[in-house]
Amino acid sequence: MNTYKAPVRDMSFALFDVIQAEALYAKLGIEAAQRDVMDAALEEAAKFNENVLAPLNGIGDREGCTFDKATGAVKTPTGFKEAYAQFVEGGWAGITARAELGGMDLPESFGVVMKEMIDAANLSWGNYPLLSHGATEALKHHGEPWQQEVFLKAIVEGRWTGTMCLTEPHCGSDLGLLKTRAEPIADGKYAITGTKIFITGGEHDFTDNIVHLVLARLPDAPAGTKGISLFIVPKMKVARDGTVGERNAARCGSIEHKMGIHGSVTCVMNFDGAEGYLIGQPNKGLAAMFTMMNTARLAVGIQGLGLIDRAFQNALRYSRDRLQMRALSGAKEPSKPADPIIVHADIRRMLLTSKALAEGGRLLSYHAATLVDVMERTSDEAERKQADDLLSFLTPIVKACLTEWSVECTYNSLQCFGGHGYVAEWGMEQLARDARITTIYEGTTQIQALDLLGRKVMQQQGVGLKQFLGMIQQFCEQNIGNAAVAEFIGPLATLAKEYADTTMAVGRKAAGNPEEIGAASVDYLFYSGYVALAYWWAKSVAVAEAGDYPADFKTAKRETARFYFQRLLPRTRLHKAGIEAGPASLLALDAALFDS
Ligand SMILES: Cc1cc2nc3c(=O)[nH]c(=O)nc-3n(C[C@H](O)[C@H](O)[C@H](O)COP(=O)(O)OP(=O)(O)OC[C@H]3O[C@@H](n4cnc5c(N)ncnc54)[C@H](O)[C@@H]3O)c2cc1C
Repeated sequence: MNTYKAPVRDMSFALFDVIQAEALYAKLGIEAAQRDVMDAALEEAAKFNENVLAPLNGIGDREGCTFDKATGAVKTPTGFKEAYAQFVEGGWAGITARAELGGMDLPESFGVVMKEMIDAANLSWGNYPLLSHGATEALKHHGEPWQQEVFLKAIVEGRWTGTMCLTEPHCGSDLGLLKTRAEPIADGKYAITGTKIFITGGEHDFTDNIVHLVLARLPDAPAGTKGISLFIVPKMKVARDGTVGERNAARCGSIEHKMGIHGSVTCVMNFDGAEGYLIGQPNKGLAAMFTMMNTARLAVGIQGLGLIDRAFQNALRYSRDRLQMRALSGAKEPSKPADPIIVHADIRRMLLTSKALAEGGRLLSYHAATLVDVMERTSDEAERKQADDLLSFLTPIVKACLTEWSVECTYNSLQCFGGHGYVAEWGMEQLARDARITTIYEGTTQIQALDLLGRKVMQQQGVGLKQFLGMIQQFCEQNIGNAAVAEFIGPLATLAKEYADTTMAVGRKAAGNPEEIGAASVDYLFYSGYVALAYWWAKSVAVAEAGDYPADFKTAKRETARFYFQRLLPRTRLHKAGIEAGPASLLALDAALFDS
């Protein structure tokens, strides 16, 4: 049986003990965010995710979504619509939205914890609120007051959902190529014409209306990314006073049949002169869309985290039960016909890899989410800028590393089941298939890597990286002489220096040859991710050892940290070699000779 139990204790440990979010929330004046209240809310959230969403995960995979060609309607899998109604009823749709909009005003970082549970319980279902959350971010930051009153409120209350319509058949990673047009019509409205593909939640049966946020070009727009504007295009026409009118010319033309996330509908959307409103400034749509994309990128990183944890939980349970062969050092459970497979070293390697990447990744991503809280709530401009710099640096690492690790860990967890993982019955192959999309949408791993090294590190003179290295240095200095973490401090300090030197070296080479960036970027991204987790693992052990926790908890943290430092952190050697190898061997072979 593939089930999910929310790791509430580790979530609370990460957010409140290691990251110390309660003090941050108090400083930011978020009154509702006291730890006891939040811990209780986590328990409530766990019940919803374990009992309502998790049991629908397999159903969603088997049934998928269905499209009625005649009406253009989409039916989501059995139970999805009812679960959404329960989600809205429980107030979860607006959990992080401000009270004046009908939300609960809880911190974004708390919303991220809830999101990890949703993604672990049912990734496909979670995509519907994920896109709505992205739309609320764009409307919150760029919408006019009436647009917020009409559209934002409806999404926060869960009455309507949101989408992000960027991709077109010829235009994926390179948004500068997009062709969808927007012509001004009467009353400050625009007629939107074009085809968008791969639109998550473009049509469904959860709500009566859907708010599409669509990138399109105005008639006189400059070419490329400088000529893109953002529009609100509702499924049902909506007047400025909120009155809902007739059906808009924004229709789903078909839905995709996919490798995974079958319960999450992926639509071709046809806009045939559909009525819409400009949001933000003309030709500044990409900047507005980036507001959505940054939170959406963090959110997709959290999808990776949820998948790692769910697959790990199931593989762990199975490995304790499944009896095959004896431990090499002699029988561990002689009364049984064979030992449980968890005695075998390589099963342990796979399980510990997932445990280390999930618990370390939890800290990495929750910490990034607290920076969103600082950015949104602080009144100190310098503090806001600092949080922005660090968050910009961390976002591609969270998105790409956690999702790539989810592919590795769901495959490893499937492997723990042997042939039983490959067949559908145990649900492990679903997790492996579902994980695969997370490295592709919201900017592929390659695009995240270029963003990290090209933009966040090189173009911005490494402001975020310097802050991050400063955090590591401060931690190492504070823990000189702390026997609990002595074994980790030396390697961590050495690595931080190597990280800075490696960055400088690639920067020098890139000044003479821009291809250096593309050639180094994915290795640089993984290298960054492994260094980041080394910091969080060392810090976890320091906090656990100093605190009043059960002995088992302390032991598990220490031994997992050891595993991480000895068996996963050395992957930085390989990635450093890749960074240093440069572009020559990648670019030498003429494209025409690849099949020679
Ligand atoms: C299930 C699903 C749901 C989606 N949901 C949405 C949605 O809701 N809204 C939306 O707008 N879009 C959505 N997408 C689209 C998704 O974001 C794109 O598929 C993604 O951005 C990649 O674009 P592409 O598929 O056109 O690939 P391309 O951009 O054609 O890329 C092809 C390959 O080339 C690589 N590549 C491209 N440029 C470079 C470079 N400079 N250096 C190195 N490698 C490079 C890419 O990494 C990739 O491996 C969804 C896609 C899927 C499959």
